[in-house]
Amino acid sequence: MLHHFPAIHDTVPPQGTPIEWDQAHVWHPFTPMAEWAATDPLVLESGLGAKLCDTAGRWYIDGNASIWTNIHGHRHPRLDAALRRQLDRVAHTSFLGFTNPVASQLCAELSALWPPNTLTRVFLSDDGSTAVEVALKMAVQFWQQTGHGQRRRFVAFRGGYHGDTMGASSLGGIPLFHERFAAWQFPVEHVTDLAGLESLLSDEIAAVVIEPLVQGANEIRLWPAGLLAQLRAWCDRTGVLLIADEVMTGFGRTGTLFACEREGVVPDFVALAKGLTGGYMPLAATLTSERIFEAFLGGRERTLYYGHSYAGHPLACAVALESLAIFREERVLERLQGQIVRMTEWLGALIRPLPWVYEIRQCGFLAGIELRQLDGTVFPVESRVGARVCLAARQGGLLTRPIRDTLVLMPPFCITDAELEEAVRILAEAVVACLGLPSDAEKGILGRS
Ligand SMILES: *Cc1c(COP(=O)(O)O)cnc(C)c1O
Repeated sequence: MLHHFPAIHDTVPPQGTPIEWDQAHVWHPFTPMAEWAATDPLVLESGLGAKLCDTAGRWYIDGNASIWTNIHGHRHPRLDAALRRQLDRVAHTSFLGFTNPVASQLCAELSALWPPNTLTRVFLSDDGSTAVEVALKMAVQFWQQTGHGQRRRFVAFRGGYHGDTMGASSLGGIPLFHERFAAWQFPVEHVTDLAGLESLLSDEIAAVVIEPLVQGANEIRLWPAGLLAQLRAWCDRTGVLLIADEVMTGFGRTGTLFACEREGVVPDFVALAKGLTGGYMPLAATLTSERIFEAFLGGRERTLYYGHSYAGHPLACAVALESLAIFREERVLERLQGQIVRMTEWLGALIRPLPWVYEIRQCGFLAGIELRQLDGTVFPVESRVGARVCLAARQGGLLTRPIRDTLVLMPPFCITDAELEEAVRILAEAVVACLGLPSDAEKGILGRS
């Protein structure tokens, strides 16, 4: 059967409201869509600082920094101006066969954020997944081109999350997200800890990948202190390359500019994305060393045939440069240290006393609050406690997403003390609204709607 296509000049913009268009045509990421259709979706229209505003004019604290991306706040005057300045020059030009001033300056500035002469080469792409993906391809090809083609396997940690493209998701260690595609993914050795590495044939391993300090998507789980440095030492002993996935931790989230900094570790590759543009634009960077880079020199067959159409996007690079300037000139990390302390204090005062709080896992300016039943066992999945608490928090004026029953608190760094306290208070009230008062808990009223 042949189809007749409408001519664009005959089509008219469809009538409807954003919610109607959404429910008729949109497929959302990571979203059970039947449930979505039954909910009352929030339509976010504008923002300012640490807050977002919906189409009904209600303001909310952006409690998970717009899915872990936002750093300096929404509509930051300097970031807005940087974007407009670049727009007055050009929006996008090709990075294949050409360069542009802002992308090349950004690569130089990113490299300068690491110890001298370590991560000197920067490859730009679009998202966290692609930043990891390119590190995988570079690692494989590096070993092929240096006479160690037997190093073909990857090692990753259980519970890890490295993105959703086929390659990056092969590394993933969260069964709900990744298991289904196992037959199409390349083989990866998953280990739980450093002891797990010792049993592997290290001279067949190309690289090991880790989210340094904290596994984000795995319900905000912190690594023991020192593990990253020990992993670096294992890599040094065995020759295995180390890929640090700082897509979430990068740009201050853990209290230092990079999580690797806390343990004095320089990886062989680092993947950066979410906070790179302060949460403004999709942009990612994979940094590596001169040693890796040099193995790709000398002829067409040694070239890395990999890239994306929007690589080196000038608008994104301009805003990323301005975000780094804000870090430098506005002493963001110094101010952040006090905010980290206040986050700990308020979580301790308002959240910790609630009997359903099994654990608070804080790393710098991010925290996971795990809710469990009073006997310490997890709530049944069907009770959807985390989702219900976040919906109650939304009604109270705070936006965040749970990971199962772990509530995530990861606000933009520009959040004021008053807003931070309010965010924690709303979360505490939302827990009580869903699970009852602490006194009810003793009577065994649990997990009810
Ligand atoms: C979000 C995330 C990714 C994937 O980034 P996208 O931009 O969503 O593709 C990879 N690794 C980690 C640690 C992340 O948190």
